[in-house]
Amino acid sequence: MDTTPLGTELPDGTRFIGLEDGWEPNWAAGDAPTQADLNACVACGLCLPHCPTYRLTGEESASPRGRITAMRAVQEGRATTDETFAEFMDLCLVCRACEDVCPSHVPFGRMMEAARTQIEPLRSRRALFVRWLGLDVILPSKTLTRVAGALAPLARPFLPRRVRSLIPRGARVAGRLPRVTVPDGGIRGTVALLSGCVQDLWFRRVNVASIRVLAKNGWRVVVPTDQTCCGALAAHNGHLGTARKLARKNAVAFAGVDHVVVNAAGCGAHMANYGDLVEGADLPVRDVTAFLHEEGLRVDAGSLPEHTIVAYHDACHALRAQRIHRQPRELLGAIGNLELVEIPNGDRCCGAAGIYNVTEPEMSGRLMREKTEAIVSTGAAVVASANPGCTMQLLAGLGERGVAVDVVHPIELIDAATR
Ligand code: SF4
Ligand code: SF4
Repeated sequence: MDTTPLGTELPDGTRFIGLEDGWEPNWAAGDAPTQADLNACVACGLCLPHCPTYRLTGEESASPRGRITAMRAVQEGRATTDETFAEFMDLCLVCRACEDVCPSHVPFGRMMEAARTQIEPLRSRRALFVRWLGLDVILPSKTLTRVAGALAPLARPFLPRRVRSLIPRGARVAGRLPRVTVPDGGIRGTVALLSGCVQDLWFRRVNVASIRVLAKNGWRVVVPTDQTCCGALAAHNGHLGTARKLARKNAVAFAGVDHVVVNAAGCGAHMANYGDLVEGADLPVRDVTAFLHEEGLRVDAGSLPEHTIVAYHDACHALRAQRIHRQPRELLGAIGNLELVEIPNGDRCCGAAGIYNVTEPEMSGRLMREKTEAIVSTGAAVVASANPGCTMQLLAGLGERGVAVDVVHPIELIDAATR
């Protein structure tokens, strides 16, 4: 293990923050948006109305086009990676709405991840330490994630109000998921489940429901014990060194399986692009609802015990990054007693965006309140959300408003209808 003190100045002028194999600091790998990616943007501006930060500020610098212009200026040496550049990059949610609508197929998410590595050295020592601890030390370790989860309720009174509101109450569970679950009847194939870090810590019930539904539909489900955090949070926050390390580890843990089934939209979108991070690390990633829809259900969709109005929330990393829209709606729509309703402006980001709700509380709060208002207007008793970050954000927003709307994963409703 490397013992270089945090903040040590490196030969290239950057500061050390990460404990990486082979002394590889997180941002010193020379990551930057590539010229080819930058050149793909023709500055047409078609993405602007779809960008949440541009919509709320009206500022070109808070738009995808403005951010790409700033990245290009740095790349061409006409600007430096200073505080202003960092502000432009930090305010982005990496929701990839711009990427989804871009006629030139600009890979904005990949570019922003690279640009974030460029601003990491500008952060204060305290911020560097907290980010290193969370992104490079705790999340990659299952044991430390569990310890942090166990300590969170004790630490709750000392945490900032915004962070406190995001920690689900009483959701943490002990024990482990079964390593192998064999279906009754004929086996259609084997799938491996990503258990996730936040998902398994706070929303174990989603993993349990996923295993149960997959097995009920004829799939043998394995949960590899040597899997780790997918690395999405590290990648989105400028720690590409750690993200690559985690991608390599998961590529080994899931090697050889037919399908890697993922029930967290952010994790699935990130893992689907492992090949961009590490050559040869591509995995056959499938979102759990898309997988069930595309492979077909073996059992009847069933029915809920009583009439329930359910609003489906589109996580950006499902809708935008994986183009998942129809599949979960059709699965839920087939359930008896379940009335599916659309959230007005449902394609708008809820403001969760990984740790964005902590790092950019003002913008995140505005988006959260917009989303909460839209959900309440539907009259739904339940929101179906396929991403743990969104679920925490929606629970916090609905709690702040004092309305009794439950937030569950769509797979929990599918599971409940067939039990
Ligand atoms: S990112 Fe795409 S949509 Fe946006 S300005 Fe550039 S080319 Fe146009
Ligand atoms: S990723 Fe989202 S917030 Fe960032 S520029 Fe694109 S649309 Fe705007």
